[in-house]
Amino acid sequence: QNSLNDKYTFDAFIIGKGNEMANAAAQAVSEEPGTLYNPLFLYGGVGLGKTHLMQAIGHAMIAANPNTNVMYVTSEEFTNDMVMSIRDKTQEQFRQKYRYVDLLLVDDIQFFADKEGTQEEFFHTFEQLYNNSKQIVLTSDRLPNDIPKLQDRLVSRFKWGLSVDITAPDLETRIAILRNKADREQIQIPDDALSIIASQVNSNVRELEGALARVQAYSKLQHHEIDEDLVHKALKSLNLENKPTLTIELIQQKVAAYFDVNVVDLKGKKRMKEIVVPRQIAMYLARELTNSSLPKIGKAFGGKDHTTVLHSCDKIADALTSDPKLSENIQQLKIEIQRR
Ligand code: ADP
Ligand code: MG
Repeated sequence: QNSLNDKYTFDAFIIGKGNEMANAAAQAVSEEPGTLYNPLFLYGGVGLGKTHLMQAIGHAMIAANPNTNVMYVTSEEFTNDMVMSIRDKTQEQFRQKYRYVDLLLVDDIQFFADKEGTQEEFFHTFEQLYNNSKQIVLTSDRLPNDIPKLQDRLVSRFKWGLSVDITAPDLETRIAILRNKADREQIQIPDDALSIIASQVNSNVRELEGALARVQAYSKLQHHEIDEDLVHKALKSLNLENKPTLTIELIQQKVAAYFDVNVVDLKGKKRMKEIVVPRQIAMYLARELTNSSLPKIGKAFGGKDHTTVLHSCDKIADALTSDPKLSENIQQLKIEIQRR
């Protein structure tokens, strides 16, 4: 009756360079909840296993003690729940629900940005759980310091325990993830065919899983077993093949061409609007489409600080909600970039 996904266990989590620290921390927390690292703060790009790992802690604790009360929510669910409890005057039930658990998992906490009321409520939830040595695990796409308008007292509390990042899997890990997935789902696929998928899909694990599903579907459609040739064809129809890899440089070129500016200026320091906006858009797209770290993006833009990159990304994300023209430009650029 908990809200955990059955598939998100430690058992099903493949360990590699990009996630071994996070995995070790999560395992340790599940063995000594509330005492070792509290809170545990996992951060990194989309599709890299943050949700999976945090839920694995829940499964492990329930396996060790079936009476463990685990609560998993996304930060949006927490916010909605709170807003509704105010509307329905059920705040007491709301508090009971979150403040009397053994393990509280709050996913994608970056969406607490700007939400004053939610932060206030969450602060008290955090305090109560923490003071009772109950384990708290949080995930985010960035470090607490980089979440805009997050109250200082929350930032400092989020750093009390341990923060670990998860980065994109290397080729070896991608192969292991695919092999594990194929075996679990009884998909017959030889190693060489599997390697082709792993080497061509290099962004994140979710896309890797998507590509495998695509190959499997294609194999059924063609009534043909999965071999190297079939994988090539299936990936071609996914438009992944014969394209230059999606790099920050490629994004810079596309954005520069689109706005008719120089790549050199895009990486430079000029402050006029005609350059600044394309520069911010290019940084935003680099973050969205490549899974590169903020420092890496900053470096590719002439050695800018990671906070400058973050500021640019937030600025564009913010403007997107109110500027249909910008939104259209970004859409077109994304299509252009994906097409290469
Ligand atoms: P995030 O929360 O970081 O966006 P998820 O936890 O939702 O990412 O992971 C995306 C998908 O990839 C899920 O289906 C998850 O099970 C799978 N996945 C991610 N990392 C691994 C891994 N190391 N081993 C096995 N599966 C993984
Ligand atoms: Mg997630």
